Amino acid sequence: MKFSQMPYERPKVDELKEKLANLLDRFREAKNAQEAISVMKEADDLFQSVESMFALSFIRHSLDTTDEYYDKENDYQDENEPILKQLQQEMYGALLETPFRKEIEEKLGTLIFRKAEMKMKTIRPEIVPDMQEENRLKSEYDKLLASAQIEFDGKTLTLAQLSPYHENHDRSVRETSIRVRAEWFLSHAEQLDSIFDQLVQVRTRMARKLGYENFIELGYYLMERLCYDQNRVKGFRKGVTEYLVPVVDRLKAEQAERIGVPTMTVYDNAFEYPDGNAKPTGTAEDIFAHGKKMYHELSAETTELIDFMLENELFDVLTRPGKSGGGYCHYINDHKSPFIFANFNGTSGDIDVLTHEAGHAFAGYFAREIFPTSLREYTYETAEVHSMSMEFFTWPWMEGFFGDQLDKYKKSHLGGALTFIPYGTMVDEFQHHIYEKPDMTPKERNDLWLELEGKYRPYLDQKDFPFYGEGRRWQAQSHIYERPFYYIDYCLAQATALAFWAEDQTNHKEAWDKYVRLVKMAGTKTFSDLLEGAGINSPFEPETLKTIADAAVKWLEAQ
Ligand SMILES: [Zn+2]
Repeated sequence: MKFSQMPYERPKVDELKEKLANLLDRFREAKNAQEAISVMKEADDLFQSVESMFALSFIRHSLDTTDEYYDKENDYQDENEPILKQLQQEMYGALLETPFRKEIEEKLGTLIFRKAEMKMKTIRPEIVPDMQEENRLKSEYDKLLASAQIEFDGKTLTLAQLSPYHENHDRSVRETSIRVRAEWFLSHAEQLDSIFDQLVQVRTRMARKLGYENFIELGYYLMERLCYDQNRVKGFRKGVTEYLVPVVDRLKAEQAERIGVPTMTVYDNAFEYPDGNAKPTGTAEDIFAHGKKMYHELSAETTELIDFMLENELFDVLTRPGKSGGGYCHYINDHKSPFIFANFNGTSGDIDVLTHEAGHAFAGYFAREIFPTSLREYTYETAEVHSMSMEFFTWPWMEGFFGDQLDKYKKSHLGGALTFIPYGTMVDEFQHHIYEKPDMTPKERNDLWLELEGKYRPYLDQKDFPFYGEGRRWQAQSHIYERPFYYIDYCLAQATALAFWAEDQTNHKEAWDKYVRLVKMAGTKTFSDLLEGAGINSPFEPETLKTIADAAVKWLEAQ
């Protein structure tokens, strides 16, 4: 069905509660596994139809924030989503109490129970006030950063509006723009320290109330990690510092030479090419025409996806007044339809819509028949493997988007992926130390960050620069405040995408088949089991990172 024709009706939460209470009774009274499973199916359908309405109101609201009708529906959704979550939680609770667990596991696998158990490990009524306190502190951080009003270039700018100056071709503009940014953060240092300290304390308190030694274990459960622990992450770090850091060092030395600076300072870091980054050459119509050709040539599965999405109006990518900013891929259950939202702005980010976001859409589309729904849902690192790998699998068609800037695009894409991993791993390691020793002083936290900078980004010259030189750079990384332990997911995903890329360089068919296998399994296995099932090398093995580093050096040297 075309997006514009999908009917919307406000889900009645009271009715939903009643229906679910009834289903829960029937589930508890089920006489055998067959009956229990059929009630699970009914509950799944019920949740899905509500989520579909929420998806429609969310998407339509973001397409036109001035539309009063969907503005109200969006508020209704914000209010009622926690209730929906709570009802789902009740369903998980009932699932764990069923006497037919063994029989259900035989039919549907053990993972749904393991997922349900994990959800139960992270919540108990006595931590609700702490969760509210945590949300309040996260909003305080958010509001503080959003309130920044910085005088620069004769204008009053927000942090986001200031950031394009950090990539200006004039070195003195880069330097002064980073300097005013640093000064803004420094002038709020005390508040930033205090918010973070309170966040560390409240998270530690929640963890202890739930019986954990510190927040790390709880943080892993909140990220729904069923297949790797801190030791595996340590192994990943080892591979990063041993094999990727030296390659990035080399890339950064080349970058310094290319842009003509003696050392890579904090204000040179984002400036890659003296004549600017690669930009797409065509109009939005050209981009879509080539995108369609690309997916038709790539595989039968991608042909099916792109035709379905274009036929059903499942892209909205042009910027208009009233439309929200940013981009996303959302999924509308009842119509088995992914939806991609973007704001084209003439940068290489426009092409990501057709590669990265389409990778997410690809995964959503092929998971549509999996039952129960909880097995469609994969964790964050898996989701980003879907999207980041698609960015690399579509390389052979990039010339049609970038013309004679093709080499620049590819180099910057590969270089950016490699450079991100050590940075992201540093963000993650920092948080482990923080929650292991929750009583560190602000100064100790900053010293720790500086030490990690030396380990993961030895090329970066920041010692004499305000804010950065004191080890405060982490205060600008919102995930550290708002989404603890999320960052490693991006790193593991990027490393896995690079493993696909490395294999794609020598054997396209094999690499693509493995990717499709992985995507089609959706969330029916844990991250590690998905990789194993697809036959792709795991980023937890240092050998995988060595293979990536070797392939990258080989590719870069051939340019
Ligand atoms: Zn993504």
